[in-house]
Amino acid sequence: QKIREAVDGEGRTVFSFEFFPPKTEEGVENLFERMDRMVAHNPTFCDITWGAGGSTADLTLEIANRMQNMVCESFLIVVCPSQFDPSSFSSFSSPSHYQLISVETMMHLTCTNMPVEKIDHALDNIKNNGIQNVLALRGDPPHGQDKFVQVEGGFSCALDLVKHIRAKYGDYFGITVAGYPEAHPDMIQEGGATLEAYSNDLAYLKKKVDAGADLIITQLFYDTDIFLKFVSDCRQIGITCPIVPGIMPINNYKGFLRMTGFCKTKITSEITAALDPIKDNEEAVKAYGIHLGTEMCKKILAHGIKTLHLYTLNMEKSALAILMNLGLIEESKVTRSLPWRPPTNVFRA
Ligand code: FAD
Repeated sequence: QKIREAVDGEGRTVFSFEFFPPKTEEGVENLFERMDRMVAHNPTFCDITWGAGGSTADLTLEIANRMQNMVCESFLIVVCPSQFDPSSFSSFSSPSHYQLISVETMMHLTCTNMPVEKIDHALDNIKNNGIQNVLALRGDPPHGQDKFVQVEGGFSCALDLVKHIRAKYGDYFGITVAGYPEAHPDMIQEGGATLEAYSNDLAYLKKKVDAGADLIITQLFYDTDIFLKFVSDCRQIGITCPIVPGIMPINNYKGFLRMTGFCKTKITSEITAALDPIKDNEEAVKAYGIHLGTEMCKKILAHGIKTLHLYTLNMEKSALAILMNLGLIEESKVTRSLPWRPPTNVFRA
C-alpha cells in the first residue's frame, strides 16, 4: 500500500517510526527485535534511512526488504500466567487480543554518489520485494566534503530524482519528499533564513510535489509555531498533499545540540531554560524530552494534523512514551515475531 493513502484516508490520528541502519550485524538483530516491539503498536509505516553518501546502500536495501516482509504477532500482556491455556489459542484471534501485524515500509534514497544505474538498481530491488514507498532526497555531501557534488550520470537535486522515478516507474511508488519548516540549512544564515530564501525554498518544495511527490515529511523542529506557519505557507502556495511533522524526542543533551547545530534548528528560550539546569542528568533530559515531545504533538494534533512521524534514532522508550501520553498506543501491547510460539502468559477475557 502507498503511505499517502493510509495517511489520508483513515481520518484518525496515525504515526510512524524512522530507523537508521546499525553499524554491526548484532546491531541489526537488536534493531529488528526493537522493531518487533514497536510494530506491535501498529504504526502506519516505518522508514529506514540511506546512509550519508550512500554509505549504507546494501544494508538499507536489506533492512527495507526485511522490514516490508516482516510479520509480528501482537497481543495484550499478561497479568496472570496461570490463566493461559494453549489449547484455547483460537480464542485469541479476536483483534482486541491477538493480531498479525505487518509494516508498510518506506526506503530513503539519496542522489549522493548514485549514478542513475545504481538508483534504478535500488528501486528495482525494493519493487521486487513489494515496497511501494520511497523518500526521494538529494542527500548531504559525503563525509569530509562541504558541498553536494552531482556524480557523473546522476542527479543534482531531489526534484530530478522525483521526476525520474515518475518517468521510469509511473505510479508504482508513493513518493515522499523532505520539507524544511525553517528552510534548508544551506539557506539559513545567522538568525534564520531571509524571507526571500524561505520563499524560494517553499517554491522549490512545490516543484517537487508538482513533479509527483505525494507526501512531505519535515525536518526536525522544536518550535511548533514555526511548523504550523510552514504548513499554512505551503497551503497558500497550493501545496495540498499531507505534510507530516518530523518529531525527534530529545534523548540526551549533547546529541540534541549536535543535531540542532547540524540542521540549524531554532531552540526556543523556554527549551534552553528548561535544559540548562538538567543538562548533566541524562534521565532528567530524557524525561523533559518526552514532556516536550508530548506537548508539541498535542498542539500539532489540535491544529488538525493527523499524522506524527517519530525520528526514533533506533530507540523505543521516548517515542513510545510520547505516543502513550497522547493516548495513541496501549502500554500493554507486546509482540513476538513469527514463527509463532505459544505465549506463556496471555491475558484472557
Ligand atoms: P533538495 O530537495 O534537492 O534540495 C535541498 C535544498 O536545496 C532545497 O530546499 C532548496 O533550497 C535547494 N535547491 C535544490 N535544488 C534546487 C532547485 N533546482 N531550485 C531551487 N532550489 C533548489 N540524508 C541522507 O543522507 N539520508 C537520509 O536518509 C536522509 N533522510 C532525510 C529525511 C528527512 C525527512 C529530511 C528532512 C532530511 C533527510 N536527509 C537525509 C537529509 C537531506 O539529505 C539533506 O537535508 C540534503 O541536504 C537535502 O536533501 P533534499 O532532498 O531536501 O534536497
